[in-house]
Amino acid sequence: LGPPPVTHYKLNNVTITPDPIANQEHVLILTPMARFYQEYWDNLLKLNYPHELITLGFILPKTKEGNAATTALQAQIQRTQKQGPEKDRFKSIIILRQDFEPAVTSQDESERHKMANQKARREVMAKARNSLLFTTLGPSTSWVLWLDADIVESPPTLIQDLASHDKPLIVPNCFQRYYDSDTKKMSERPYDYNSWQDSEAAQQLAAQMGPDDILLEGYREMATYRALMAYMVTEQADDSLVIPLDGVGGTALLVKADVHRDGAMFPPFAFYNLIETEGFAKMAKRLGWQPWGLPNYKVYHYNE
Ligand code: GDP
Ligand code: MN
Repeated sequence: LGPPPVTHYKLNNVTITPDPIANQEHVLILTPMARFYQEYWDNLLKLNYPHELITLGFILPKTKEGNAATTALQAQIQRTQKQGPEKDRFKSIIILRQDFEPAVTSQDESERHKMANQKARREVMAKARNSLLFTTLGPSTSWVLWLDADIVESPPTLIQDLASHDKPLIVPNCFQRYYDSDTKKMSERPYDYNSWQDSEAAQQLAAQMGPDDILLEGYREMATYRALMAYMVTEQADDSLVIPLDGVGGTALLVKADVHRDGAMFPPFAFYNLIETEGFAKMAKRLGWQPWGLPNYKVYHYNE
């Protein structure tokens, strides 16, 4: 018997290019999931990046809701991977169950978004993202697409469109469709306020905070005067317009795997008074990777 086999991976052979399909680049799609939405799965299946190059990773809490979501997810995986057409099947799928408690027992939107619940909630979300990332990132991963479980609509070309900009991390604008009772028509409004350009006012607020305090965006009680990508949709709607950002949201977010390999993660603590995805943008920046955003390129969040 010889020595045990050693597998060598040459990381410099793993390309990360603006033409990832031509270069057969592997994409890891990571989704923290508290609830299963059929619309999320249907939209995921419609992504036309070659599925044989895609690995899916999920992390779900061990709550009653998390158990129900796991069951529903597994049923869809079974259908797609075993019964559905070959071209729909993904390379591999990993499901993790969280080994720590969720921050809020109620997942209802009003409860989730209460300012008092934010720090604990975002801490748990950051830990869930880190756990998922560190157990799934492989030696052949070129790109990581963070995609929340309640993103129900995106262009089918999402991955290749975002990658074509060749940015270390890039985030589309997350909107929500709703019924406008005044006009009696369907309309849309911004949903995610975590993609922003920093402001003097926010810097000053942070300077007066303790090291464990966090700045939050989208709360009247904490006026940051940051420039929010949510409000930067332009008239001509050129969907390739890119802007530099200081904070990013994680509802949909494409990251070059090297950014994570360098050590950029989702701080589950106050990092420059920022936490989770916003803290991640800051950490990437500190590592020399500039975050970018696409104000006119939209994905849509479920409307509860
Ligand atoms: P919001 O849209 O900013 O209110 O955030 P969500 O509550 O939608 O959470 C973001 C993502 O994380 C979604 O995909 C949720 O399904 C998922 N999520 C929320 N809470 C938890 C949790 O406690 N554990 C895990 N693993 N995922 C969660
Ligand atoms: Mn959400």
